Amino acid sequence: MRKFIFTLAALAVMTTACTTKQQTTGIDLANLDTTVVPQNDFYQFACGGWMANNPLTPEYSRFGSFDKLGLNNLEQVNGLIQEIAEKNHPQGSIAQKIGDMYNMAMDTARRDQEGIEPVRQTLEEIKNISSRDELSRVLGAAMDFQLWAMYVDADAMNSSMNIMNEYQAGFSLGEKEYYIDEDEHTRSIRDAYVKYVEKMFSLFGFDNAAEKAQTILRLETRLAKAAYSNVELRDPQANYNKMSIAELQELVPQVDWKVYFEALGVELDSISIGQIPHLQEAGKMLAEEPLEDLKTLFSWQVIEGAASYLTTEIYMTSFDFYGKVLSGREEPSPLWKRAVGIVNGTLGEAVGQMYVKKYFPEENKARMLALVKNLQKALGIRIENLAWMSDETKAKALEKLNAITIKIGYPDTWRDYTALDINPEDTYYANLERAAKFEQDYSLSFLGKPVDKTKWYMTPQTVNAYYNPSSNEICFPAGILQYPFFDMAADDAFNYGAIGVVIGHEMTHGFDDQGCQFDKDGNMVNWWTAEDKAAFDARTKVMEEAFNKIEVAPGVHANGAFTLGENIADHGGLQVSYLAFTLNEEYKPEAERLQTRDGFTPAQRFFLAYANVWAGNIRPEEILNRTKSDPHSLGRWRVNGALPQINAWYEAWNVTEESPMYIKPEERVSIW
Ligand SMILES: [Zn+2]
Repeated sequence: MRKFIFTLAALAVMTTACTTKQQTTGIDLANLDTTVVPQNDFYQFACGGWMANNPLTPEYSRFGSFDKLGLNNLEQVNGLIQEIAEKNHPQGSIAQKIGDMYNMAMDTARRDQEGIEPVRQTLEEIKNISSRDELSRVLGAAMDFQLWAMYVDADAMNSSMNIMNEYQAGFSLGEKEYYIDEDEHTRSIRDAYVKYVEKMFSLFGFDNAAEKAQTILRLETRLAKAAYSNVELRDPQANYNKMSIAELQELVPQVDWKVYFEALGVELDSISIGQIPHLQEAGKMLAEEPLEDLKTLFSWQVIEGAASYLTTEIYMTSFDFYGKVLSGREEPSPLWKRAVGIVNGTLGEAVGQMYVKKYFPEENKARMLALVKNLQKALGIRIENLAWMSDETKAKALEKLNAITIKIGYPDTWRDYTALDINPEDTYYANLERAAKFEQDYSLSFLGKPVDKTKWYMTPQTVNAYYNPSSNEICFPAGILQYPFFDMAADDAFNYGAIGVVIGHEMTHGFDDQGCQFDKDGNMVNWWTAEDKAAFDARTKVMEEAFNKIEVAPGVHANGAFTLGENIADHGGLQVSYLAFTLNEEYKPEAERLQTRDGFTPAQRFFLAYANVWAGNIRPEEILNRTKSDPHSLGRWRVNGALPQINAWYEAWNVTEESPMYIKPEERVSIW
């Protein structure tokens, strides 16, 4: 299910903690590649040393500063969990749940012995569907297969109330482009996918596996063709279609929605449909496709959903496709990392509570809050000085800026896991099913109720940050408030260049091409004059075109429209944090401004700290995968694509027309 929050990065591994650097500049000179001229290739200059010192291991398709911090957090969380898992605890206690979940995740011998037994009953139930009339009830009750997803979230037009939302689903490769693009690479992925589906059906004891694999490709392609592309999904208006259940019944008459929602266990009189063409196509498929083929698709979704939680052979078959073919990874992650991921995924806030107690110093919160306030002030100054915006729109923008809710570290109240039963006498899969049901019940319990503004959409141990447009809030979990993002021992140049830009990035999401369509209360209400909106659109177009020109692999270009919101956020983050930095008392005396430490001025260190956040290595397969699926630009381009649009970077590094990175001042992006 997709929740529309805008994050700092799309992460492969959910993770955890930190390196304490005692350097006062925070800049690690070993990260640099001084054989390169910074004005020629800033990313290589700032990160080349890091890249050489942190080569990709077989486990990773991408490994960067972000992932390194993530790995550290993961190790810390693992330590906390292991201590618990070694002992016995009273049944029903949080420690028992965490310990048993972890131990089950680690027990591959038991899973190898159980084979496919844990999913047999679910597959049997699908086999027993004897008529199309049963489908509305079956889909409403199903936990493991769907042609669309349902989730409860704030109403985009009435952000203080929760409603049911629908979202396109039902095609395993996730992005529609994988089903329709005709380039050689995508075709080879499709061929590998069909072979993978066939092998999995065989492993699960199905007859005619090859034929079934063709059926899966055909049905998923049908759904994918009707789905919105990643660019279309970025339009909040087009993806919000509130209607009564009677109207939904008329829109998609092939489903008996009363029966469907009864089986789901909810009562409702309205819903927001995300992608109408996809849902209509799904409805038609339910009426037109042979019942046996639909059952094959449902079975496939059960198989895919279970693949990581059954035998080693099944897990490796799935890895061979998703890990190797799609991402270029050579080996799966070690078992302990997957086990920590499972505990983080099922009991995340309980783990987070232990994590912050041990690893998050309270004083970090105070310094972070001071940084956020300075950034907020700086963005306010920039808004007031925008030459292209009328006073009328500026007043609204400032109102929105000042209304932003700030969340730092961890939530004030912790989630209650009492109703989640973890019992090692059942199979691992059965426990995960219960955990999924617990999540669904939790989500559905908010239906029709006022939005809980204190809720967090990330766990505290996560190395990431987000902006949520429907609540106009920014959130920085404890996990990211560490080196190389944040360093209590380092000076302001470092902290503004690293975490400061992250803060500015999240704030700017409130004003990117999507965020700007929501008001200070998180309602999708226009607060722009027509002229100002036209001026804004013309300016974001420059950003879109600049990124469209970037060649990420031979013959493959970045998708400027898909990455637009993130690129605007990076741009705003840099502008705003740099201004906040220069307004700082420490920066003001000229002597301070010109003084070098570790060979660099404060302004230069600001940009080095920024670049170092995005240091990383990536496999060619993963470049292509992320270009299709990740709304964030690749690390290299978050530096080499973003900085040439920033005037202060030219000044700090004396970048002239001779530099291959040079862009004429009048051609540079200028938004916030
Ligand atoms: Zn972002």
